Amino acid sequence: MTSLPIIEAPSEPPKRRLPKWLKRPLPQPGMAYTDDVISDLRLETVCESAKCPNRSECWSQQTATFMIGGNVCTRPCGFCSVPKGKTTALEIDEPERVAEAAERLGLKYVVITSVTRDDLPDGGAEHWYDTVLAVRNRTGADVEVLTPDFMGNRAAISRVIEARPDVFNHNTETVPRLYHKVRRNAEYQRTLDLLKQVKDEAPDMPTKSGLMLGLGETREELMDVCADLRAVGCDMITLGQYLQPSPDHLPVDRYVPPEEFDEIGELCRKLGFRMVASGPFVRSSYHAGEMTDHMDSGTQPVMMNEGMALNPVPGKVF
Ligand code: SF4
Repeated sequence: MTSLPIIEAPSEPPKRRLPKWLKRPLPQPGMAYTDDVISDLRLETVCESAKCPNRSECWSQQTATFMIGGNVCTRPCGFCSVPKGKTTALEIDEPERVAEAAERLGLKYVVITSVTRDDLPDGGAEHWYDTVLAVRNRTGADVEVLTPDFMGNRAAISRVIEARPDVFNHNTETVPRLYHKVRRNAEYQRTLDLLKQVKDEAPDMPTKSGLMLGLGETREELMDVCADLRAVGCDMITLGQYLQPSPDHLPVDRYVPPEEFDEIGELCRKLGFRMVASGPFVRSSYHAGEMTDHMDSGTQPVMMNEGMALNPVPGKVF
């Protein structure tokens, strides 16, 4: 009798292959200048810390999203690759350094985010205030803030509103059923309350929120969240594919095809969002200035970056 060859089971499961629509072009030239400015001014960016798949494209166009308050976060979110643990003291010259970077990069639209600083009594709100003012005073640029939830501290949130950002963005990230594993220590209602507070205190300030798809949410759950966001007056929404930043992070449940992003984008538009960006590579800050411009001019639908040869279908703005 012929014995069959013994094939040993692989020691680890095979890596899941990315679907073809998630293949990215090779790094583009022209990133070095942005890289130099960021390093020279000792700044953090969420582009690097969160391993954003769009970094090559954005940085080669001299766009980056500044991350203030250090590079260590106090929250253990399962999707995020920003380091967690013991935070560092706020650097009082950071607002001016961010402003200088914005100036050197020639930015007309500046997106600022931060790590969550639950260790600070105001969650870093005063630092946020200082940074928005520093950037605006030095560059005259429009400023979008992408904030943490400040533990629902209404005074802290008010302080950021007082800086009069041009867009107030706070991400919902996922549906409430998945918060315990995706966004531990956060509360869904707290996010809705924050967005409502912005509208109550500054009705003319556009609000924006974003979700990652492919974490195990159902279509119905997703659309319920979108309806909740509209109910608190949220003007703009971004929807993108969750990508696992490392094997230690939450696995991808599903790669959502581009056609499905289109369908969901259309549904969001019908819910009344003034601007919707929906596509596998859409991120909160992806083409943020263009998104706001399109909203202000009322133009839609528009391909988010139509004509970019290296990145033809990253998502649509509806
Ligand atoms: S999409 Fe946002 S976070 Fe990603 S590289 Fe571009 S600016 Fe940075």
